[in-house]
Amino acid sequence: MAMADCIFCKIASGETRARIVYEDGDTLAFSDLNPQAPTHVLIIPRRHITGLSSAVEEDGELLGKLQLTAVKTAKLLKVEDAFRLVTNNGRGAGQSVNHLHYHLLAGRKMLWPPG
Ligand code: 5GP
Ligand code: ZN
Repeated sequence: MAMADCIFCKIASGETRARIVYEDGDTLAFSDLNPQAPTHVLIIPRRHITGLSSAVEEDGELLGKLQLTAVKTAKLLKVEDAFRLVTNNGRGAGQSVNHLHYHLLAGRKMLWPPG
């Protein structure tokens, strides 16, 4: 069920435009509006999940699909040899949109620890 005030639900339904890189029935990959690397794509489930810590046992297959979507997207963008996949869970960890998303980052040197 789409959440009325959720920007990523609106992108998933097509109500809000985004530069979509890959999509299937369950997941969607689109360019981040404020990129932090030459490649910065967000990977989301179409279905609203508030964040990773809100996922339950029944979401296991969907969580797996999100990672496979990240790999498909990395291959489409030819960055599969060097990318970072990260989720910010909770405001204290930097989460600003409360719809589960993974950041796919590539195209520059990645620092560790990420900060
Ligand atoms: P978070 O801060 O929750 O980890 O990541 C949210 C990301 O969503 C940010 O990188 C931000 O730039 C991106 N973002 C926020 N609003 C929009 C939007 O309307 N469209 C797109 N494409 N990205 C957005
Ligand atoms: Zn949502």
